[in-house]
Amino acid sequence: MSGLERTYRLAARDTKSEPTVVTIGQLRIGEGCPVMIMAGPCTVESREQTLITAHAVKAQGATVLRGGAYKPSTSPYSFQGLGIEGLEILAEAKAETGLAIITEVMDPRNVELVCRYADILQIGTRSMQNYDLLREVGKTQTPVCLKRGMSATLAEWLQAAEYILLGGNPNVILCERGIRTFETYTRNTLDLAAVPSLRELTHLPIIVDPSQGTGRASLVAALSRGAVAVGADGLLIEVHPDPENALKDALQQVTPEEFAALMDGLRPLADAINRGIA
Ligand code: PEP
Ligand code: MN
Repeated sequence: MSGLERTYRLAARDTKSEPTVVTIGQLRIGEGCPVMIMAGPCTVESREQTLITAHAVKAQGATVLRGGAYKPSTSPYSFQGLGIEGLEILAEAKAETGLAIITEVMDPRNVELVCRYADILQIGTRSMQNYDLLREVGKTQTPVCLKRGMSATLAEWLQAAEYILLGGNPNVILCERGIRTFETYTRNTLDLAAVPSLRELTHLPIIVDPSQGTGRASLVAALSRGAVAVGADGLLIEVHPDPENALKDALQQVTPEEFAALMDGLRPLADAINRGIA
């Protein structure tokens, strides 16, 4: 083991060569499992918006509903999310559709609360280095989706994962969501090379978020196919019934119709690599 890998011992592939498979109810995610589709709005805006989207993504084969109730925002003037009301809406969507829920937790003091609603806790890019938050989610057994910090190297990201693993929570899923580069056409540069690179470095499941990764709805389907082709274990995709009027991330959310077309393009690819879609 090299000196670098010693900084993330539990996350390292040479400590544990067999892939970690994270269980979410009846669902399984990890190397060798079917590709898991997590989809839904960037942000829970209303009951109607969330329920419409939940039914639409479920009909296309998603098994997990995404939606932020607590939203990290670069500007304090933009929408911050509905908070507990948003969590209650997600609970209703789960009860109606049977979809599992992934939602962000930002504040270490809210971990217990969000755990009551979430099947997967999302740690956002801006929180990847919030070590108190990482320690707090490490005390739970709830699966954690740890997004890559927008300027984090793979080693820094794996060290963040190590905080959660060291706390006793083995259920960590890594999510590539794009990094800051000099390019401005896309919101971020989606680092698809991270997927096979992480496969060498870690046993943890790896998913890709092509929505934050590109910032452009028109690119989401192509990057979803790319992510599956390079071996991603799942996708996190933003879907909104009326993207133009979305309260956040209006440019990158796809409509339910676009999501259906995206899924049609994905299925033959997932079958071709002998994984299928969960
Ligand atoms: C999101 O998923 O809507 C989000 C805010 O993601 P990120 O933390 O990757 O920007
Ligand atoms: Mn978003």
